Amino acid sequence: MLLPQLDSLDGIEAQVAIIQMTAGDWRPVVADGPGSMLCSVMRVAILDLRRGLETFSAEAEPAELGLPGDWFPHRVALAATAAAVPGGWCLDLEIRTVARRACDRCLAELEPAVLEQERCWILEQGQAAGQREEDRLLEVAPDQEWAELDQIVRDALCLAQPEYFLCASDCRGLCPGCGQNLNERDCGCRPPAPASPLQALAGLRRPD
Ligand SMILES: [Zn+2]
Ligand SMILES: [Zn+2]
Repeated sequence: MLLPQLDSLDGIEAQVAIIQMTAGDWRPVVADGPGSMLCSVMRVAILDLRRGLETFSAEAEPAELGLPGDWFPHRVALAATAAAVPGGWCLDLEIRTVARRACDRCLAELEPAVLEQERCWILEQGQAAGQREEDRLLEVAPDQEWAELDQIVRDALCLAQPEYFLCASDCRGLCPGCGQNLNERDCGCRPPAPASPLQALAGLRRPD
């Protein structure tokens, strides 16, 4: 059997052109490859910060922020306050949305309200050395117009969602026998006997 040679994929530029719809107009955006930033929808103008901007807000669709749509089907709202610090600004972000999760035990769907608070820093180039956590630090070049907050917002929402989601810590799950949601009522099934590994052989006969 011939397997495709993975080496042959080398050198193919993973430039993907993506058409993204925004409020009534189509904008082609070129991404560098899978998972790269498309375009920023939550951002703040550096000039506004220089002029003493104290609060700002933004809203975006989850897809615009690159959020997984099955967990985040609703719009995301950002409210931010900015304060000048040496070399830049400190931003306190309040990120709100409503998530959608299915309980991993009973499969019930819930839409929990999400409020994440995140602090980040926007610092002029050269001011950032050795400071604070790098993932929440945005360095801006002298001629840079905008500081992009998409990734900080996306990370704050994704990292706060538990991989294993339960509707309640004492969720009783589904009956393995009849599928009844045991949070709603007991079904009366007996716990199933442990399956014997030899059981699969019981129905087998050698062909005559
Ligand atoms: Zn549950
Ligand atoms: Zn049952």
